[in-house]
Amino acid sequence: MIKDIATPVRTKAILEKYGFSFKKSLGQNFLIEPNVLSRIVDHANVTDKTGVIEIGPGIGALTEQLARRAKKVVAFEIDKRLLPILNETLSPYENITVIHQDVLEADLKKAIEENFSDCEGIMVVANLPYYVTTPIIMKLLEDKLPLKGIVVMLQKEVADRISASPSTKEYGSLSIAVQYYTEAKTVMTVPKTVFVPQPNVDSAIIRLLVRDKPTVEVEDEDFFFQIVRASFAQRRKTLLNNLVHFIPNGKELKAKIEETLEHVEVDGKRRGESLSIEEFAKLSDALAKVVK
Ligand code: SAM
Repeated sequence: MIKDIATPVRTKAILEKYGFSFKKSLGQNFLIEPNVLSRIVDHANVTDKTGVIEIGPGIGALTEQLARRAKKVVAFEIDKRLLPILNETLSPYENITVIHQDVLEADLKKAIEENFSDCEGIMVVANLPYYVTTPIIMKLLEDKLPLKGIVVMLQKEVADRISASPSTKEYGSLSIAVQYYTEAKTVMTVPKTVFVPQPNVDSAIIRLLVRDKPTVEVEDEDFFFQIVRASFAQRRKTLLNNLVHFIPNGKELKAKIEETLEHVEVDGKRRGESLSIEEFAKLSDALAKVVK
């Protein structure tokens, strides 16, 4: 068995050999605890048939654990300085492709078609760069990729927002956006000590299982999300106030918005954070008829 990259001793030796310095601006906090890495892979249910997309392989700590269990791993890394390192650390594995690209600019649909035609079940597994956690997760979901799920390490605070229920302070448009597409669960919290350098915030691993179809059926997805965002625009304001102020032409349409709220039996004096996804769906379908 080859020695794990993710031990403190081996990580230190690799970083010293290449004179690598961490870039905080790229969210570079590398994992140095093999047990945490294998738990991530466990939670992703990776088998020898799985195709895995990894975001930000770093020096390959998670990539190698994935390669040992998956059929194929395609890893997107933005930092050019890591390419020669990955070339060396991952040389024992033949089922890994490293792509030097910002994942937010990548054509992931094409990457999946080109790399995973012989795989059954595609997962995204990553220790995410924290400065772009939300844009990455939203891209993965909004691109409607043929994914089975996403298992990622992220800030605990973001994991809490993603899996929040109505009427909690964490519940917001991110909870609704992610829960619309997936079944979301925080599976593990992770101490700062398993990273080098240690991040300033607590971390967690979240598992998002992509639904066959969204939680609710809405007539116009874009409009649904527009209504959700408007409803949370100012959390202290009532639902009616937010809708009036944050829907285009809301002020002129105030009477109609009030009428619609009454019609769908949602009290305009409630706060957006108390509405379930089902209530938002009902409301946006009804508002679409008067506002659009
Ligand atoms: N996977 C490694 C580990 O667990 O030790 C490194 C994880 S580190 C938290 C995040 C990695 O993402 C870094 O290697 C960083 O260079 C890379 N990265 C940052 N922004 C990126 C982006 N937009 N696209 C692809 N990779 C990115």
